[in-house]
Amino acid sequence: RPEITTPEALTDESVVELSLRPQRLAEFIGQGKVKDALRIYVDAATGRSEPLDHTLLFGPPGLGKTTLAELIAREMGVNIHTTSGPALEKPGDLVGTLTNLRAGDILFIDEIHRLKPVIDEFLYPAMEDSKIDIRLSEGPKAQTITMPIERFTLIGATTRLGMLTAPLRARFGIELRLNYYPAAEIEEIVHRTAVVLGCSVDAEGAAELARRARGTPRVANRLLRRVRDFAQVKASGHISRDVAREALAMLDVDEFGLDEMDTRLLRAIIEKFDGGPVGVGTIAAAVGEDADTIEEVYEPFLVQNGFLQRTPRGRVASAQAYRHLGYPPPSRPAD
Ligand code: ADP
Repeated sequence: RPEITTPEALTDESVVELSLRPQRLAEFIGQGKVKDALRIYVDAATGRSEPLDHTLLFGPPGLGKTTLAELIAREMGVNIHTTSGPALEKPGDLVGTLTNLRAGDILFIDEIHRLKPVIDEFLYPAMEDSKIDIRLSEGPKAQTITMPIERFTLIGATTRLGMLTAPLRARFGIELRLNYYPAAEIEEIVHRTAVVLGCSVDAEGAAELARRARGTPRVANRLLRRVRDFAQVKASGHISRDVAREALAMLDVDEFGLDEMDTRLLRAIIEKFDGGPVGVGTIAAAVGEDADTIEEVYEPFLVQNGFLQRTPRGRVASAQAYRHLGYPPPSRPAD
């Protein structure tokens, strides 16, 4: 059941996640470059009594984009209004929120690459000139009125930078990329979460979880919660290395934290394309996922962890991918 390591939030997970969110920027573990940059932008804006520039956070799911948006609001001492690209049907859905914003407030739009073009366009004057155009009727002779709104900060989060339209992207003054966390930082996150959950995990237990967490805090927290249950019932509550191993084996967690799509991708390359090289478009068709998502969400992890190579002629599954998935290694070494 590789779903346990999927970086996307599972149904009903959001409630638990809320309680695990760091409350201060300083409590946000890792992503040093992003934090340092944010610290400066936030302090500078606060010093000038101005809203923060519109900010775009991008990176794979589960790395802390929503968390950072909330931390920025807290550090700036402003309100945050949260919505998401797919939830917005028409410009009218944003009128109430935008007209009620107080100066400096944050509007957070998750999955901003999924905004409809009409909403993109509706946002441009809001972002640039603090005004919105409201259409009073439909059709070519429709009347519009222009309304002023307070200066606010739009924080957009996206897993798919490539899908943002150029005019929208150009309106963000700050762009910050989140990367997969190194194991040591994931271990820190596991320890922090253990404190919040009131469970006990030692260094080796945490290391065991961290190795399988796909460099993703959301996955690390999820594994910890599942292993905690196991430890409580089978091992008087303490998570040691052995308890972690036993629990993870029982949960069928992939040894490297590969999720279902990672595995399907690698299998497709090996089984259908002889291990590659094969173009990303072809892989996309074979696994039924779009090429941009594969490039922006899945490949970085697989490449970083030595399962996949990007070559000028296409993607190649590594010998490690063959071994891990139980195939005999390729006879001709992949180049
Ligand atoms: P995203 O918006 O990028 O999908 P979230 O912000 O929802 O990710 O984070 C997912 C979970 O991981 C949350 O429960 C959050 O508290 C936790 N988390 C993310 N980043 C960190 C971090 N750097 N330190 C501690 N916890 C984190």
